[in-house]
Amino acid sequence: MTLHIPFDNSYANLPPRFYTRQVAQSVSAPRLLVFNDRLAADLGIRTGDPEELAAVFSGNAVPEGAAPLAQVYAGHQFGGFSPQLGDGRALLLGEVVDVHGRRRDIQLKGSGQTPYSRMGDGRAWLGPVLREYLLSEAMNALGVPTTRALAAVLTGDRVYREAVLPGAVLTRVAASHIRVGTFQYFAARRDLEGLQALYEHTRARHYPAAQSPAQMLEAVIDAQARLVARWLSIGFIHGVMNTDNTSLSGETIDYGPAAYMDSYHPTTVYSSIDAHGRYAYDNQAHVIVWNMAQLATAMVPLMPDTDAAIAEFTAAINAMPARIAAERLAAFRPKLGLTGDDPEDAVLVDDLLALMQAGQADFTNTFRALARGNARDQVTDRAAYDAWHRRWQARLQAEDGAEARMMAANPAYIPRNHRVEAMIQAAVAGDMAPFERLLRVLSDPYTDQPGEEELTRPPLVHEVVAQTFCGT
Ligand code: AMP
Ligand code: MG
Repeated sequence: MTLHIPFDNSYANLPPRFYTRQVAQSVSAPRLLVFNDRLAADLGIRTGDPEELAAVFSGNAVPEGAAPLAQVYAGHQFGGFSPQLGDGRALLLGEVVDVHGRRRDIQLKGSGQTPYSRMGDGRAWLGPVLREYLLSEAMNALGVPTTRALAAVLTGDRVYREAVLPGAVLTRVAASHIRVGTFQYFAARRDLEGLQALYEHTRARHYPAAQSPAQMLEAVIDAQARLVARWLSIGFIHGVMNTDNTSLSGETIDYGPAAYMDSYHPTTVYSSIDAHGRYAYDNQAHVIVWNMAQLATAMVPLMPDTDAAIAEFTAAINAMPARIAAERLAAFRPKLGLTGDDPEDAVLVDDLLALMQAGQADFTNTFRALARGNARDQVTDRAAYDAWHRRWQARLQAEDGAEARMMAANPAYIPRNHRVEAMIQAAVAGDMAPFERLLRVLSDPYTDQPGEEELTRPPLVHEVVAQTFCGT
């Protein structure tokens, strides 16, 4: 083997009830589709030939030093509590400490059944694998914390969904796969020892500066407030913000039905299973507070005095909406070329969004056009826009370098749903060129790329993708 992954596993040292050790179910004819050489280098991986990579990242071969395991967790799904979920189609291969000294998980997704598969087949098909690959890499290039994609492998096996589809495995890299639901699992079982061990592990790994569970909770709240604010600033809709899909590290995780808005509307929902809009664009700011309240609840038993803990945690949760509002404004301010901390800027942002909503303006293109001075073309009520524009220009008087700031905060390219769907259809037919093109352009989303203007175009009426799917 020339492939070498410098594993340095720590989760596997937690008590056995945190996971089930097992290897992946084998696949019949693994073929490497994509490999992220730059990320591999970052992880200190010495890569091998495509066959070797296909064998390892399909699960057929266990690399030296790996300690494959399925993690157990719980979670609120659409508000209802499931006391036991877990990696039903994923396996943690192990961890590496990357060249920057950061500990990172390497996980196979689509690697077959585990004790947590319930009725599922433990598999993934090519569509969601390439979707997550592309969306997570695009998110990273947009500068937002996220899990990464290391590899995508075709398995050579069929997967049965609404149709018979090509099976695939994604290799995901994450700061960790510890979820709010992981804390909920031990709390729900009143396994105080397990909860304590999970807390210590999480603190050491993600928040070493925190000196108590309360301080760690504050740090997680901060990270999540920042994360959701960044999502809002790029028109991102996660789609399934269940507590098992909310990471303690503050990374975007689990891209199932995730999507970016084309035309701006605050109640936009794409996920086919989100019938009531629980995870709509503008609800994300509320739902993350609810999710942090569940984390706080699960962490109460870590505190010596229950009443005092409840009072302290309640105050932290109650303070979260204001924190999100501040982070949101901080994320939107550079989109208008602004700096500083004038609270009046929120009115400017919200008034522009209202104009965009009324005119069904394209979210990404309108912000990008602000820097170029042609945003007026994006909205329908020109008189109202002109009035807004005068206020904005007056505010901009106080700023230097606004244009550069806007170009760096307003991407030209996002993974538009219609392009993602077309890419998946092409890949299923054996054509990876659209995937490779999108991946290349989206790796540099803030730079205009001559010849790729087409990828900035919103969908035509017949191209609009109204729904996205979890892909389970
Ligand atoms: P998700 O909403 O995609 O995060 O999935 C929720 C839960 O369902 C997780 O515990 C997954 O491991 C599990 N799951 C999703 N798809 C499958 C599948 N095809 N086979 C087994 N388990 C699955
Ligand atoms: Mg999940």
